[in-house]
Amino acid sequence: MKKIARRSVEHWTNSDVFLSDIDFLVIGGGLVGAASAWHLASAGTKVWLCEQASPGHGASGQNAGSLHFQIERRFLEREDGVGREGEQTAQLSRLAVQDWRDLERQIGRNLGVHMEGGLMVAHSAQEVRLLEAKAAREQAMGLTVKTIDRAQVQALAPYLSPDILAANFMADEGHADARIIAPAFADAAQSAGARLLDATRVASLQKRGALFEARLEKGEEIQTVTAAKVLICAGIWSPQIAAMAGLHLPLFPAPLTMNATARTAAFLPYLIQHVGRRLSIKQTAAGNLLIGGGWPSRLHRTGSGFDFSRAPALVPQSLTGNLQTAVETMPVIGEHELLRSWTGITAVTQDQLPVAGEFPSLPGLFCAAGGSAFTLGPTFARLVADQMLERRRDEADALLSVASPARFESLNGFMGR
Ligand SMILES: Cc1cc2nc3c(=O)[nH]c(=O)nc-3n(C[C@H](O)[C@H](O)[C@H](O)COP(=O)(O)OP(=O)(O)OC[C@H]3O[C@@H](n4cnc5c(N)ncnc54)[C@H](O)[C@@H]3O)c2cc1C
Repeated sequence: MKKIARRSVEHWTNSDVFLSDIDFLVIGGGLVGAASAWHLASAGTKVWLCEQASPGHGASGQNAGSLHFQIERRFLEREDGVGREGEQTAQLSRLAVQDWRDLERQIGRNLGVHMEGGLMVAHSAQEVRLLEAKAAREQAMGLTVKTIDRAQVQALAPYLSPDILAANFMADEGHADARIIAPAFADAAQSAGARLLDATRVASLQKRGALFEARLEKGEEIQTVTAAKVLICAGIWSPQIAAMAGLHLPLFPAPLTMNATARTAAFLPYLIQHVGRRLSIKQTAAGNLLIGGGWPSRLHRTGSGFDFSRAPALVPQSLTGNLQTAVETMPVIGEHELLRSWTGITAVTQDQLPVAGEFPSLPGLFCAAGGSAFTLGPTFARLVADQMLERRRDEADALLSVASPARFESLNGFMGR
């Protein structure tokens, strides 16, 4: 028995919505899915947010919590055109700064946001040249980044090594609390009218006529739901969901390492990154120093692939490499007790760019995954929700063009459905 959905979105164009059980099915209760569900439900539509475990179960609850808006180091170390694409993501970073500045007020919940500035540091003359070139590119993109010299670095952050020759400072950078973000958005989404189905796995997804039909499994309970539009934001599991609908979504798992020291008195208001080495350091509100920066861990394997149900194994060289880099950058770290190390898995594409938007070969199916989707997640969620709602669609399409799944159409052209 089909229910009648409300026609509450001004620019709603798909009359099939009246035949579907719900307007939107959002698959994955990480930051991106929960924030998308909040936007969609706030527009007065009927939304289900389906999460196989609990909100924040995936990368959103495991990450470093850095809000890094400077062009990322990984975009600078390649010379095959990704630098240009790194510049394009800078446009999204500019929007993300505005989004993060207002998020706590908008959703009425504490997200542990601290945006007091970030320093990307350099140890060598070559790295300083890279910083200067990067700052020039960022300024041209409207990001307020400036290069400061050794004396200015020491004046701002005397706990940094005197070997640091220069840094790029951006006043908007900072961090938020990864442990609370996805649950907070999921809570806000429910308050706005979305239905959260936790411990519920999407087991199949297919398009039937103009609607999407999904099979949802919660233990022994099984139900089928039809939705006018579907958003896949299932992190590293996203390719599996896309495959259910007969599409390629070439995202790859990247297993990473994080470390936390014991609590210490507050002294570090900034996010610290390095332009030439894998490093991020920040101090949480509770006083712990979080140390990461993209050091690998090792995925467990099943007979036929990787096992995402287990936390990746720690790689000893990553642990020592990460901590050594941290001490070389901020010697005081060596005085603190290492409390905990953990691993998590994020999703990357071959071109390092996120994937966000509608699949051209399957209209009505959207995805938002990959990239630095803690920093950019709220912005992906807002823009993809705009696309799904046909609200400011042209603007959202233009802003997300760098991330569009249209770049995989050459692969999906081979997929008969
Ligand atoms: C160690 C580490 C450090 C990082 N540091 C940073 C950082 O400092 N800054 C930054 O910007 N980014 C960082 N990232 C990346 C960032 O965490 C991710 O980009 C972001 O959290 C992705 O959010 P998401 O909502 O897309 O995916 P996820 O948080 O992975 O959420 C996907 C959800 O989908 C659910 N799901 C999967 N399959 C199904 C199914 N079949 N049915 C129902 N639900 C399903 C999962 O249970 C999961 O909860 C880091 C990642 C890691 C691992």
